[in-house]
Amino acid sequence: MSEKDFEIVCAKIEDKKEFLNSISQEIWKMPELQYKEVQAHAVLTCALKRCGFQVQKHYFMPTAFRAEFCPKKDVGPTVAILLEYDALPEIGHACGHNLIAEAGLAAAMAVKAAMEEDNEIKGRLVVMGTPAEEGGGGKIQLLELGAFENIDAAMMVHPAKVTNIFPRTLCNIRYAVHFKGKEAHAGACPWEGRNALDAAVSCYLNIAQLRQHIKPSWKIQAIITKGGTIPNIIPSAADMEVHMRTPTRSELKVLRTRVEACFTSAATATGCEVQFRYDEANAYENLITNKVLANIFKEYAERLGMEELDPHKLPASTDFGNVSHVLPSFHPAYAIPCKDINHTKEFAEAAGAHEAQGPTLLVSKAMAMTTLTIFRSPQIFEEARRVFEEDVSNDS
Ligand SMILES: [Zn+2]
Ligand SMILES: [Zn+2]
Repeated sequence: MSEKDFEIVCAKIEDKKEFLNSISQEIWKMPELQYKEVQAHAVLTCALKRCGFQVQKHYFMPTAFRAEFCPKKDVGPTVAILLEYDALPEIGHACGHNLIAEAGLAAAMAVKAAMEEDNEIKGRLVVMGTPAEEGGGGKIQLLELGAFENIDAAMMVHPAKVTNIFPRTLCNIRYAVHFKGKEAHAGACPWEGRNALDAAVSCYLNIAQLRQHIKPSWKIQAIITKGGTIPNIIPSAADMEVHMRTPTRSELKVLRTRVEACFTSAATATGCEVQFRYDEANAYENLITNKVLANIFKEYAERLGMEELDPHKLPASTDFGNVSHVLPSFHPAYAIPCKDINHTKEFAEAAGAHEAQGPTLLVSKAMAMTTLTIFRSPQIFEEARRVFEEDVSNDS
């Protein structure tokens, strides 16, 4: 990337910062849940169209989109900048996806500006709007539907409490567990009943005891979502939701076997039946950060003033993990001023605060510069591809 590219990127994003903030605010003020991001889809596709991108609304699904800028047809690699814009129930934009949308839009506008200045830059820029990261697995569906075919590399940024350019997010699967018992009069003849709530409570305790004997990097979360209707009827049905996370797929296989034993043993002990299934559409892969691309991002981010103060592994998960198993990708976390972590009311406030703008614009610039570096240096892209093949074959 040239010094001129650097200047164009910075100037474009600084020039458009009020506009970019207004888009972020519009999304932040109307939090929409997975696959219902109708307003965010409208706001972002309208903004991209106004900026001169070729926009495909409702791309494979109602609230996804694809926008493209490619001044020279079929030349150079195709790089996708991914946007998220879904919120969480009750606590709104507590994961800051409004900022992810803003950052992606900012980076895309800056890359386009640099490409318009210099027609020697060869590449196809794609801006992909990906719904339902918070539990819906939007990117998993898009991958299956073919949205990532012909894309050579992908990137996005995610706000967090701390900056980490090489986060290692975890594999994540979700089980729905149903215990079937038998109702009975709880006072008159409880011995006739089989208590499904007891099965769920036993299961919960089995899981709690198992936690002592699993690796610290493995996570299990469980809640009981249904446990009866009234105390004087022995509950005949109980439901649980159980999530598991591990750094790799092979570890997840081991953990699944042990947690499934918690389900079945609780059913046996209480004389109930159990049915469980995991949601394949929501099986998030661990994140494989492409070091070649992430190092370029790091170099520019540091030049722009980013400090990686407390890098650590993120015990979270993202459907971008699945993308990272298919093509060279990176997904840095960047700090916005907030004392609390994602998925809290405090983080929702921080994601809408003016103080989040500086760090968001900084990472937007670094994403734009990374994209331009890929467009200008085919050998860097080849190296990223080689490292990707290696990483995928080493990941198990
Ligand atoms: Zn989140
Ligand atoms: Zn998130």
